[in-house]
Amino acid sequence: MSLGIYIQVPFCQTKCTYCNFHTGVVSSDRYRPYVECLRREIGDSARYTSDVVDSVYVGGGTPSLLDPGELAKIMDSLRGAFRVESPEATLEADPETITFEKAEQWAAAGFNRISLGAQSFNNRELQAAGRMHRRADIFNAVEFLRTAGIRNISMDLIAGLAHQAEKSWNESVGELIRLRPEHASIYMLEIDEGSRLGKEALAGGSRYSADAIPDDDTTADFYEAARERLADAGYKHYEISNWGLPGHESKHNLKYWHRDAYVGLGAGAHSFDGISRWANAHEVPRYVSCMQQGSSPREQIEVLIPPQILDEEFFLGLRLLDGVDLERIEQQLGPELPKRMAAIRERVDHLQSLGFIEREGPRIRLAPDRLTVSNEVFVQLLA
Ligand code: SF4
Repeated sequence: MSLGIYIQVPFCQTKCTYCNFHTGVVSSDRYRPYVECLRREIGDSARYTSDVVDSVYVGGGTPSLLDPGELAKIMDSLRGAFRVESPEATLEADPETITFEKAEQWAAAGFNRISLGAQSFNNRELQAAGRMHRRADIFNAVEFLRTAGIRNISMDLIAGLAHQAEKSWNESVGELIRLRPEHASIYMLEIDEGSRLGKEALAGGSRYSADAIPDDDTTADFYEAARERLADAGYKHYEISNWGLPGHESKHNLKYWHRDAYVGLGAGAHSFDGISRWANAHEVPRYVSCMQQGSSPREQIEVLIPPQILDEEFFLGLRLLDGVDLERIEQQLGPELPKRMAAIRERVDHLQSLGFIEREGPRIRLAPDRLTVSNEVFVQLLA
C-alpha cells in the first residue's frame, strides 16, 4: 500500500477576509520551534509503517513563509524516516512570497510541484479579499518557478469574490489559461460564519466589501464558464474543483477522494489509515507542548463504523467526475446495511430521474451540469 503525507503549516502573514481555515498570524520566531516539532513527529509516525510514501503535501496556511532551509529539513526528515519513493512533492505558496532564489532552493529540497494561491488576476478583487499579492506577483512567481525548473504548477482561482464581474472573471480565467499551469483549482466562495467576510455578508453588512459579493447564481455561472474554457484549453476536469492537463491530476489529493491512507502531521492535521480517522491538537501551543513533552498530539480518534464508511464512499467518491462504482459498494457494504443500501439505491434512481445523477454501467456520477449544487445532492442522497 502507498501512503500520502500531509504537513500542516498553520501560519499566514495576514488573515484573508474570506478565510475559514484554522491559521494564525504569529511572529516568525515561532516558525523554527514548530518545524522542530514537525520533525520529531515525522520520526515518531514513521515507526508505525513501512509503506512507501508516494506523495508529500506541505500546506497551510502559507508554508512558503518558512525559511527554505527549514522546508529542506522537513523534506530531509521525511526521507530519513519513511520509504519515500519518487513522490509528488507539493508546496503551497503565495505569489508574493516567491523569489527566484527561494524557488531554486525548494526545487533542490525535492519539491516538484508548487500550488500557487493566485485566487484572482484582478487587483481590486485581491485587495478586497485581503490578499497580500497583486496580479504582477503572479506572473513573476510563475516565471521564477519555471526558471528554477518546476515543471508542475497548480493554480487556484476563487469564483464569487467581492467586486467580481463577468469581465474580470473571464480575464482571470484567460490569464490562468495563458500561463498554462499543469493543474488548476476553481473554488466557489463559501459564505459561512467561519470567516470575517462570511459573517459580515450573513449579517447584511458592507465591511470587507461584503455587499459587493456576486449572488449564488452569478458565482455558479462563473464556475460554469471556467469549466467550459478549461475543457477547450485541454484541461481534464476530474474533481468538482480540480482540473489537470493529461497526467497531472493531483496524486496526493486523489487519496482523499479514493479513501486511501494518509498521515497528517502538524497542528490540526488529519489522518486516515483505512480504518480510523484522527486529528492532531488544533492549537499550535498545545501541539508544540505535546511534542516537546514527548506525548502524542493525536486527538479525536474515531474508528469508522459501516454506516460512516458507506456515507464517505458517496460524498467523497462522487466529488470525482468518474463517480463511484455502485456495485462494488453494494457488494462490500450491502450485506451489512441492507436497508440503508436499498434506501440509497432508491434515492439514486430518483436523483437520476431528475437529472442530478448519471449512470454508466456499474458507475454513478454527478451530472456535469449539476456540480454547483453537489452539496444539495449529497444531502438528498444520504439523508
Ligand atoms: S493565505 Fe490562505 S490560509 Fe492564509 S489567511 Fe489567506 S486564505 Fe487563509
